[in-house]
Amino acid sequence: MKTLVLAEKPSVGREIARVLGCRKQTKSYIEGDNYIISWAMGHLVELADPGAHDPIYKEWNADHLPIIPERMKHKVIGKTSNQFSTIKSLMHRKDVNNLIIATDAGREGELVARWIMRMGGYKGPFQRLWISSQTDKAIKEGFSSLKPGRDFDNLLQAAECRAEADWLIGLNVTRALSCTYDTRLSAGRVQTPTLAMIQSREQQIKNFIPKPYWLLEANFGGFSAAWRGKSGNRIFKETEADALASKLKNAEAEVISLTEKTSTVPPPLAYDLTALQQDANNMLGYSAKQTLNVLQGLYERHKIVTYPRTDSKYLTADIEATIPDRLKALTGTDHAAKARKILEAGFNPGKRLFDDSRVSDHHAIIPTEEPVIADRLSAEEKALWNIIIKRFLAVLSPPYRYLKRTAEIEAAGESFFISSSTSVDEGWRAVEFRAIEDPDQDGSGSGKIDGLSKGDKLRVSGTQLQQKQTVPPPHYTEAGLLASMENPAAFIDDTKLKETIKNGGLGTPATRADIIEKLISSRYIQRSGGRLLLSPAGEEVLDLAPDKLKSPALTAEWELRLSGIAEGREKAAAFSADIRRNTAELVQSVKSGGKEYKPREFSKKACPLCGRMMMPARDKKGNEQYVCRSLSCGYEEEQEEPNGYHKISKQERAVTRKLISQYSDKSSDTFTLADMIKMKNNDKDKKRN
Ligand SMILES: [Zn+2]
Repeated sequence: MKTLVLAEKPSVGREIARVLGCRKQTKSYIEGDNYIISWAMGHLVELADPGAHDPIYKEWNADHLPIIPERMKHKVIGKTSNQFSTIKSLMHRKDVNNLIIATDAGREGELVARWIMRMGGYKGPFQRLWISSQTDKAIKEGFSSLKPGRDFDNLLQAAECRAEADWLIGLNVTRALSCTYDTRLSAGRVQTPTLAMIQSREQQIKNFIPKPYWLLEANFGGFSAAWRGKSGNRIFKETEADALASKLKNAEAEVISLTEKTSTVPPPLAYDLTALQQDANNMLGYSAKQTLNVLQGLYERHKIVTYPRTDSKYLTADIEATIPDRLKALTGTDHAAKARKILEAGFNPGKRLFDDSRVSDHHAIIPTEEPVIADRLSAEEKALWNIIIKRFLAVLSPPYRYLKRTAEIEAAGESFFISSSTSVDEGWRAVEFRAIEDPDQDGSGSGKIDGLSKGDKLRVSGTQLQQKQTVPPPHYTEAGLLASMENPAAFIDDTKLKETIKNGGLGTPATRADIIEKLISSRYIQRSGGRLLLSPAGEEVLDLAPDKLKSPALTAEWELRLSGIAEGREKAAAFSADIRRNTAELVQSVKSGGKEYKPREFSKKACPLCGRMMMPARDKKGNEQYVCRSLSCGYEEEQEEPNGYHKISKQERAVTRKLISQYSDKSSDTFTLADMIKMKNNDKDKKRN
């Protein structure tokens, strides 16, 4: 008898087959003596369209909303249905009596496999392969310690709840907005609060009134020290600053304290996905999506880093014994000398790094034991890999230690401070240089104070006033937006709620990149010189979207509850009931919102039928076209010229196609405008047929 192994995608399936020694290749599976390996291509099964639940839902009509099926129906995705049929027939082959789920070891991977099994009618026993690396060793070890399939039922429930929540909220609010305002608009459980955060930042910037302030330094001969008052070192009135300066003219001064302190700065924590995406955005200019894609290649194809979609910055205790091999794998690379140094000196990060309680599904992203041949990496891969290795070496390095001397000087009843730092041991900073934040960096004096002693009498030989201005927060970069999505508590006023969602984010590390891309493809935000800016179309939808959905609180709370379900602390049924209630409320608030649609986006192109604005979109085949923004009009026209709009280049389209084919995990089925138009076109086709 044989065991069917179900991988996430073809490339991974082929690797597993090689390790298990299966050789008989077909287009859609590989067979050996004991195993048959087949694969999904991302999701092969998805939640069915509203029309499949009831034909009246094929029409977009506000009277039908909310659409809340009691039981959600599923359907096999058309374009990959052949692969599904293959797996289904393998499941029912007479010589197959067992199944191993070898999809991505995470929430979405579980859903990919279980939905295929459910739709395929598989009733036999099954187990779970749960690995954090794609090396031969990890695959072999994983197969020798398979987990009971049912151990992951909670994870499955969390995944199903997530999928249903996205379907219910995204679809209902999107239809409610579009029907109520007769304008194509789209909303989603994660995309809408994310968009609102971008708007809120832009409003802060717009409303910001810069305030001048002055910093005062006094010169004491060999050095100058910064003035500090009771509430800091900023002086907000020029007259006060001038008065201080004249009071200090030639004033006598005395060193009233001198402190010397060795400070220790431990290395940063290892990378989780979000932190790596932030650094890659800051250092390399990569988008979050790009980082995830490059990382996926390093994980799957080169097998030199561990599982990417992790939310942990820690390692499990059993990893400690494998560290030397991971360091040795860097032999022959640019990092060899530093790796060898750590091997020789030993490392002892202890609980700061190796902490089982802070790793749920996967540990932090670190290198595997697979020897690295750096020449095989593309420039893009190499740059990202370098960041990961530097961090890995840094976390194993000793702390940075420096000596800080601070002198306080009194003159004319005012206090002045100067401090200077000297490195004692560069520690991890020799591997990964990072500026250390000094709490009193805003003017802490300059010059040498080595010869100074307490009680020294000095004299003010001059003063400098420096005029500065308060600055608004910067526009979001992807790194900044990722940080806010990870920790949206700052956008919530209610202190109690703030506390509740302290650990809740918008989306999960694995899905945040997709959400950003979705907002861009919906034309709600634009990339501009490394920044993400709200577009007029984005403002339009935020004008009309329900306030409750715009607040990050609701979504962050749901995300926390989803983690609770995965960990068995929360009941899926209660979550489902609440999501259904929330959906109905959101739809109701749109319908009775009484807001007025004010177009903010204009184009020269008007609809020949109704005169409303035409907007660029894609037809089912991905061809560019124009569609009328009025839902009831529905006029469509193939696009011939760019006509003032940013036309998507062939290259860009190829990139998008590549990204899609590399398979993004579909863990966020919130709808983009493009999805929506596609669905509507499909519905129309069905009606015609
Ligand atoms: Zn029209």
